[in-house]
Amino acid sequence: MTVMEIFEELESNVQSYARGYPRVFSKARGSELWDQDGNRYLDFLAGAGSLNYGHNNPVLKRALLEHIESDAITHSLDFHTVAKARFLEAMRDIILEPRGLDYVIQFTGPTGTNAVEAALKLARKVTDRTNVISFTNGFHGVSVGSLAATGNKHHRGAAGVPLYGTSVMPYDRYFGDVDTVDYVERLITDPSSGVDLPAAMIVETVQGEGGTNAASFAWLQRLETLCREQNILLIVDDIQAGCGRTGSFFSFEPAGIKPDIVTMSKSLSGYGLPFAITMIRPDLDEWGPGEHNGTFRGNNHAFVTATAALEHYWRTPDFANEVQAKADYLTNRLQTMVTRFLPDVLEVRGRGMMRGIRCADPKRAAAVTKKAFEYGLIIERSGPRDEVIKFLMPLTTSLAEIDEGLDILERALADEFGTVEINTSTFDVAAD
Ligand code: PLP
Repeated sequence: MTVMEIFEELESNVQSYARGYPRVFSKARGSELWDQDGNRYLDFLAGAGSLNYGHNNPVLKRALLEHIESDAITHSLDFHTVAKARFLEAMRDIILEPRGLDYVIQFTGPTGTNAVEAALKLARKVTDRTNVISFTNGFHGVSVGSLAATGNKHHRGAAGVPLYGTSVMPYDRYFGDVDTVDYVERLITDPSSGVDLPAAMIVETVQGEGGTNAASFAWLQRLETLCREQNILLIVDDIQAGCGRTGSFFSFEPAGIKPDIVTMSKSLSGYGLPFAITMIRPDLDEWGPGEHNGTFRGNNHAFVTATAALEHYWRTPDFANEVQAKADYLTNRLQTMVTRFLPDVLEVRGRGMMRGIRCADPKRAAAVTKKAFEYGLIIERSGPRDEVIKFLMPLTTSLAEIDEGLDILERALADEFGTVEINTSTFDVAAD
């Protein structure tokens, strides 16, 4: 029996990523992965945005090993622990206070979708309203409450029950140049529109699964103003776009908005350990004890690595500046790639190091990522028809590795769309 056969024998058909990358992986470091046969891959998927600091980041690993070695707490329900106290202090001192943000932190079950469930429940409880506005192409998770706010038909179809309690509105640029905040405003202020006044609006500043669609800062600001005027809570789901992915710790910082509730997960632990929080404007914290509960709200290993990540990467602006410089470099190369492969590759999308290139034909986008994998690059697609090739490499990926991965992708694009000489010498290679 090969190792592969056990997956066919025992693992449910629900497996998804594994289908696109049919290998058995055994080792990982930084932006590199190896399979059990010793083949090396560059990982531009990085745990779907959960490994912003790379696989087995040495700084985080050291902190975790020391914690484990000392018999410190691993699992603690929601007991007070030293590791949790340190995480809260780091959040306050390194992240919240310097940004003038005031939130209390709810430790939810360790998945993104559970943080979203908590946010939606609390918004409904506090406002005593049921409806929540979500946006086209939004993705907030696959448990039933979050799924009702998620656009994707494939995921919605699996719910098995009617999904309700949400009204979907067009995201920024959904109708091209039409101002969709005007549209939302009209519907929620018209007493005869058929849309109930919502408890909250839930939005991603950059839609990851929806195709790396970035809302403009102006759109986000107008949405916040509308929420304030109508006494609606603004929830930013920063599960994928947060933790530095778009260049700042929170993706909403450069827009200058202050959401009432923020959900975080994915790269929050920094080490790939399950961890999620819901950050709540203090006066909205109307939870009764244990009203939103969960056995795994006390993953102390995640507290330790999250604290190490905050202390190591976010105490000074250096890391954010480095991410911005890499993002500029990445975008520049992607832009050149689009120019080269037009009309098969149509545009670069996203913000910071959360980028995508949209292909005209979803089938051919799939062929490109398949080919890229054969050449040693793990890269995924997203968007309504999986037509956007999505770049989520660790933020710690070196410029040399970014080049290596993009060269592979360019080779795969050339295989699919026609061969043109690859010339990377035209790109500025800034110091890493
Ligand atoms: N919210 C956003 C923006 C996401 O991208 C995701 C997952 O991709 C989720 C929520 C759900 O997180 P999880 O898969 O951990 O439940």
